[in-house]
Amino acid sequence: MTRRIGGHVSCSGGLTNAVTNTLNIGGNAMQIFAGSPRMWARSLYSPELTEGFRRLTTQHDLNPVYIHALYLTNLASDNPELLEKSKTAIIMDMKNSALIGSAGVVLHIGSHQGRGWAHDRAQVISAIEQAFRETPGSSILLLENSAGQNGKIGSLKELKDILDAIPSDRLKVCLDTAHAFEAGYNFTTADGLEMWIKEIESTIGVDKVELLHLNDSKTPLGSGRDNHQNIGDGYIGDAGLSMLINHPKLAHLPLILEVPGDGTGPDRANIDRVKNLLK
Ligand SMILES: [Zn+2]
Ligand SMILES: [Zn+2]
Repeated sequence: MTRRIGGHVSCSGGLTNAVTNTLNIGGNAMQIFAGSPRMWARSLYSPELTEGFRRLTTQHDLNPVYIHALYLTNLASDNPELLEKSKTAIIMDMKNSALIGSAGVVLHIGSHQGRGWAHDRAQVISAIEQAFRETPGSSILLLENSAGQNGKIGSLKELKDILDAIPSDRLKVCLDTAHAFEAGYNFTTADGLEMWIKEIESTIGVDKVELLHLNDSKTPLGSGRDNHQNIGDGYIGDAGLSMLINHPKLAHLPLILEVPGDGTGPDRANIDRVKNLLK
């Protein structure tokens, strides 16, 4: 089976430009924003747009396609207006996800801003349940692990807590390698990788993991600070990333890069590096 590799690509100028951008970097999968990442406004894709995008992705065998929720959302916010805007935007992303046949919407859950997970847990769970009620059954939500900084929710224990509370096939997980490393998991050694995978198995379960965000880290192990680096140029390095993506328990997972490239995001050089790491 061909490994699925792609990058977060721009849809600027139109949804179908994401196809061109993916083909240009040599990807066979992709991640996009379904609107501006820094603006709340979202609208439903038109039937023409949806149909054109589905036709092109089928024609070029580009899949899976993921949508990344916008960066402004915080399901743990104590500001009612911000919470409402967050839910509305996520619901719109999930509706568009169903329209274009996307494999899921990747979500940074948000920050409890020091209040603690226990304090905001019920609010986050009820927001996700509402999103499922108000969107088609084919739309999937992927919770992403966090690097742990500034009260950002997304440790394996917190993800498990949410998955336990919402037993649904529509709820899955995206693991970001930079975030995990920055949160203190040293998977660059064989023992460290086994320990991380054991912890995944004893919390969320490997079968809940749908996607790997494959990023190197610009900050050291356990820094708690999220900063992505190009493949092989960061603190994780080629050997660590190679061992991880080829591990028998992870070797089926699609790889989506969110690296800086030369400043314009994931590029062909980074995709080629990943292809060279595959065994
Ligand atoms: Zn990520
Ligand atoms: Zn990140």
